[in-house]
Amino acid sequence: RVVVVGSTNLDLVVTAPSLPRPGETVLGNGFSTVPGGKGANQAVAAARAGARCAFVGAVGQDGFADQLRASLADAGVDVRRLRSVPGPSGVALIAVDAAAENLIVVAPGANGELTSLADPDRAAVEAADVLLAQLEVPIEAVIQAAGWARTAGTTVVLNAAPARRLPAELLDVVDLLVVNQVEAAVIAGADDGVGLDGLMEALLDLVPRAVVTLGARGVRYADRLGLRLSVPSPTVEAVDTTAAGDAFTGALAVAWAERGGPVDAAAVTAALAWACAAGAACARRPGASTALPTRDEIDELFAQ
Ligand code: ADP
Repeated sequence: RVVVVGSTNLDLVVTAPSLPRPGETVLGNGFSTVPGGKGANQAVAAARAGARCAFVGAVGQDGFADQLRASLADAGVDVRRLRSVPGPSGVALIAVDAAAENLIVVAPGANGELTSLADPDRAAVEAADVLLAQLEVPIEAVIQAAGWARTAGTTVVLNAAPARRLPAELLDVVDLLVVNQVEAAVIAGADDGVGLDGLMEALLDLVPRAVVTLGARGVRYADRLGLRLSVPSPTVEAVDTTAAGDAFTGALAVAWAERGGPVDAAAVTAALAWACAAGAACARRPGASTALPTRDEIDELFAQ
């Protein structure tokens, strides 16, 4: 069982021959709305990967709220802790041109109102094997949930994105940090010359276990028990890697929850390889949240 504390927003995507310059208007040629937000994406990823998953978050009181709630519920995510707060839902305005160059403005809306959690949220955290959080909601809520998780023995998995330096009160309760290489450098405060090995060691100064994702090259893993792993991702024809990181992270939380927190090298390797299969399965399909793979798809790619 996984509980996600995080963001949900609606991506409003316009395609156009070219992107407008300031003050310019261009005629677009297509429009779509796609549910997104790292929190919601990872909750959907976990549910599709086969976990019971609850989502703690906020939508606004506007026409987008129902669509966001329905997209989580349709994936089987428990939305009883998704609250509705006055004001707009989170949105991302995205323009994409013919060369796939984009221009994005995110308005966090309701996500920014998730500053403190309540007793029923605490019960959801305590009932879970894994708490999965990101940094697209106020860090106070993440710290509060992670503190409850630590007390209850729920494993805390933090996908520290968007990256920022992390306060000690959060670092102290994180069990597993999941980041890409750029985010890892920001969090560790490392300079460019440090290299991947140095980066992994720098992360272990902060948290007991760390995973760094490397796109098609798979992942690196390090922990304070002395384990150092490099796990490849299945080779796929990548079409759109948007949300691959969310697919990976959601699946890793599921693998961790099912194994009760892997300890030995073989179990950790299996969990990482399975999560890589989820990321790769997402990358070979167009779209973001709509490309998140099911458990069968992950298992199939994992077995190849
Ligand atoms: P982010 O988008 O957060 O930077 P990555 O690009 O590192 O995340 O992708 C996360 C995971 O998804 C990778 O570790 C890998 O397992 C999988 N993945 C991403 N892109 C590819 C690809 N082109 N081929 C195979 N696997 C991929």
